[in-house]
Amino acid sequence: MIAAVQERLIEWYRMEARDLPWRRTRDPYQILLSEVMLQQTQVERVIPYYERFIARFPTVESLARASLAEVISLWGGLGYNRRAVYLWRAAREVMERYGGAIPKDRRELQRLPGIGRYTAGAVVCFAFGEPVAFWDTNIARVLTRIFLGHEARPTSRELDQLAESVLPPDRAYEWNQALMELGARVCLARRPRCGACPVRGLCRSVGTTGEPRRRSERFMGSRRYYRGRIIEALRGRWGGMRLDELGWAVREDYTPAHREWLERLVTDLAREGLVEAAEERGEYVVRLPGGGETADNCGGGKSEKVVGSG
Ligand code: SF4
Repeated sequence: MIAAVQERLIEWYRMEARDLPWRRTRDPYQILLSEVMLQQTQVERVIPYYERFIARFPTVESLARASLAEVISLWGGLGYNRRAVYLWRAAREVMERYGGAIPKDRRELQRLPGIGRYTAGAVVCFAFGEPVAFWDTNIARVLTRIFLGHEARPTSRELDQLAESVLPPDRAYEWNQALMELGARVCLARRPRCGACPVRGLCRSVGTTGEPRRRSERFMGSRRYYRGRIIEALRGRWGGMRLDELGWAVREDYTPAHREWLERLVTDLAREGLVEAAEERGEYVVRLPGGGETADNCGGGKSEKVVGSG
């Protein structure tokens, strides 16, 4: 059965795969960038950001030499800006520790900031052609439904074993891409399209109605919403913004009573390296890291006082 699933899925992928920019390259930096951008973000949204990012930072060296402020600024709007910070830090480490060559070893890759087991596996497979298995939510759902049945709740270890046991070593690239493609377009979480599925005759979950809709957190007005608004407000403001000025920029109903709330948000963002907050002439000023300088001349030694810390 495993061989039949492999055949049908890879055949379907060859016929139906979307032409995505990161599928036209084997450059490990570009693959890494695409994988980081695709975390928790849909393909259609990622494409324009990916193309702009590659145009501005075509190599790991160009990214490492950029200011963090510019990197976050270019990333802004895609969301989950912490990813940009990690990627920039990873690029600098690749320059410092590996002479600019992204490591081919999965465990080495996992030592870089923000790169987990999934992303490391994807880079090793898609860029270097290594026969490795990896899974994220989508791949886990597809593998579970096909081979275990939709009611199964495998542990992470069991998923590792399953992914490895069904991987065709000589066609790892296509197999892993095909699993992702099926999870994104056919074997959807809530409404699987079994009628259009290339493995419907082999799948243990054919006809399943999918997972119930989870109650999602309201985005407008959420913490994540305001974190994004703060980054947006600071983009291009190299001189930074005073705390109250920032408050008025991110919410219309801002009053000094919101100051503590804003300080907490800024403090968290500063801890994560997404903003800098320092006292200047008796006022707290918040800005994107590096404040428009290049990474080469703003790293490390700059003293800063984080708002609200301690
Ligand atoms: S038959 Fe249905 S449940 Fe099985 S893999 Fe295809 S879409 Fe998913």
